[in-house]
Amino acid sequence: MLNQKNLLYELEFSRIRSFITNYNPRKILIQIADGLKFLSRYIIDYIESLDKDIETYLSASPSYGACDIPVDEVKALNADAIIHVGHNPYPYMGYSINIPVLYIEAFYTGDITEKLIKSIIDVLGKYRDQDIVLLASIQYIKLLDKLYNILKAHGYRVKIPRSNVEPLLRGQVLGCVYSTVKNTGSNTYLILTSGLFHGIGVCLTKPSAKVFVADIIREEVIDIGNICRKILAKRYYIVSNLINNGFKTATLIVGSRPGQYRPWLIDMLYKRLIVNDVKVYKAIVSYLDKDRLIALDQALGSDIYIVTSCPRLPIDDLSDFYKPLLTPGEALMVLNESMEYRYPW
Ligand code: SF4
Repeated sequence: MLNQKNLLYELEFSRIRSFITNYNPRKILIQIADGLKFLSRYIIDYIESLDKDIETYLSASPSYGACDIPVDEVKALNADAIIHVGHNPYPYMGYSINIPVLYIEAFYTGDITEKLIKSIIDVLGKYRDQDIVLLASIQYIKLLDKLYNILKAHGYRVKIPRSNVEPLLRGQVLGCVYSTVKNTGSNTYLILTSGLFHGIGVCLTKPSAKVFVADIIREEVIDIGNICRKILAKRYYIVSNLINNGFKTATLIVGSRPGQYRPWLIDMLYKRLIVNDVKVYKAIVSYLDKDRLIALDQALGSDIYIVTSCPRLPIDDLSDFYKPLLTPGEALMVLNESMEYRYPW
């Protein structure tokens, strides 16, 4: 039915079939990661080919991760199952979703090109006598062993760490889960991915590390050092200003999506703030963007805002907000009067 080679992504369609056989859903909400939305028609057509009486709805909302299951849409539709495409389950759900969810990864079926391999070998030449940790985002995880074997054959000391966070795969990183980085003694990292997002995440987790991104799509290796230094300089500036000058009011921004709702974190930050005589407001939102933030500031006028949903928002998308917008880790740096960068919480 489907030539997956042409799509450049491999989906385990047999898992969709088993899921439907097991749960016999009548109305399925399909959520697909933004970069993979072009797969939508194939998935919908496949489900309909199994059972033409199943009603399918594609979530047209943004999808940033498995943290972000659209429970409001499920409720509106009265859907009885969810298929999330693009990620494995998020490890820190704040509440459970009361209908079956199938998480189906989309693994890249392209290869690491000779050009990229040559660049990796060239760039890592200086680090041949060090332990080099290999990591990947979920789409490229199946290529990690191949890269490991190539580098090993060239005399590099490489390792792919196991994650101690279920259900992350060996070597896998997530935008807010870099436990594999925290737990290794190594200081040199190469991430097989596309774009800089995960390279920046590794660097925020371990600012002293040497971090390279091997970009599968652009076929080049990027040293994250300068980019990360600039980001960190800005973050340290915000934190040190708050440590030196103090603040009187704070708003905790809470995420409503299951994996972005972190009651333990909200509670802990709330208590830490009020014992420091800070007036605390709480706000909840499904998606936080610049317009929502401006509206929130017009409503509450707090001195600072702390995002407890996605810790990448203050660093990436909303880094130019006109008031201090902190990650939980940065809020704790301020409260602890510590300049040791802390990511994500
Ligand atoms: S970084 Fe943000 S979008 Fe990515 S998994 Fe974490 S909370 Fe979700």
